[in-house]
Amino acid sequence: MSKDYYKILGIEKKASKTEVKKAFHKLAHKYHPDKANGDEAKFKEASEAYAVLSDDKKRAEYDTYGQAFGGNGGSQGGFGGFGGFGQGQGGQGFEFDLGDIFGDIFGGARNRVKRGSDISVDIEISFAEAIFGVERKIVLTKNSTCSFCSGTGAKKSSAMETCSACAGNGKIHETKQSFLGSFSTVRACEKCNGKGKIPKEKCKECRGVGILKKREEFEIKIPAGINNGEMIRLTGAGEAIVDGNPGDLYIKVYVKAHSVFKKQGSDLIMDLGVKLTDALLGSEYSVETLDGKIKVKIPKGVSHGEILRVKDKGVPISERRRGNLLITINIKLPNKLSSKAKKLIEELKGEGV
Ligand SMILES: [Zn+2]
Ligand SMILES: [Zn+2]
Repeated sequence: MSKDYYKILGIEKKASKTEVKKAFHKLAHKYHPDKANGDEAKFKEASEAYAVLSDDKKRAEYDTYGQAFGGNGGSQGGFGGFGGFGQGQGGQGFEFDLGDIFGDIFGGARNRVKRGSDISVDIEISFAEAIFGVERKIVLTKNSTCSFCSGTGAKKSSAMETCSACAGNGKIHETKQSFLGSFSTVRACEKCNGKGKIPKEKCKECRGVGILKKREEFEIKIPAGINNGEMIRLTGAGEAIVDGNPGDLYIKVYVKAHSVFKKQGSDLIMDLGVKLTDALLGSEYSVETLDGKIKVKIPKGVSHGEILRVKDKGVPISERRRGNLLITINIKLPNKLSSKAKKLIEELKGEGV
């Protein structure tokens, strides 16, 4: 590591601890990534320099070896001396989540909306259901918005009053001291969950929380043509939380394999066994499809492996359009011949067939 930490902070080698701190303070504000023209790389560099030079032991090591080793052979991260500021990450590595640290320090700059947990459910459907689509009901017991008060926590027709904890603005501002000087944080008011108002009379069902654990039924529309393993997401149908948005509900769909059909894009494919004589002379076969029985014309002289296409018996593509049913001809040769059959075939052979 040959970085000149003094140069990075723009200070002299004999700079006092206060000067180190001041220099970093200035740079941190200048380069902070949340600022319009911040510079994350420079900010990290300055933080790294500060982590070393603000620590007597590390600074002494750095001055002697041009490198700071940390408490024991470099197993502590650069921020070891910071007390609560980033955990040692191993090696000389210098890693921390800016969001974590500065979400705290600069508070309001990163006010993320909280989200409830997602829920994931597996369901299994038949092959035909996957082709044509199906509706399924699922029942879940989960945290949901209270339907009696629509999540307000108020008893019906109860008046709302201004929250005393936050004076109605839903946020709590606090001023704290840190190495960067004093700064203020903003957080949602716990008493009113950031709403600024609280009901005079609470909803009895949810005790004023606005959230209830309850059994809920969901009608799941599984679209035609869904593939095995595909997911359906119901936005907002996951776990509800008091001061944020509910999570999502994910339904993973497993499709049972079919003994005859396979899905290939919007087509269905199947094999059809055809007798040798039918292949030679042509015939008509009754074939069981997902739409019921249909008649399929076997053209005379059809080849083994030839594909017959039946229009509009495949996977629905739109209201009016469907894919094809593709039938692969599998000519079955007899493995035993009666003496009569053998004689006839010998005759056929004589014909040059
Ligand atoms: Zn309620
Ligand atoms: Zn409040």
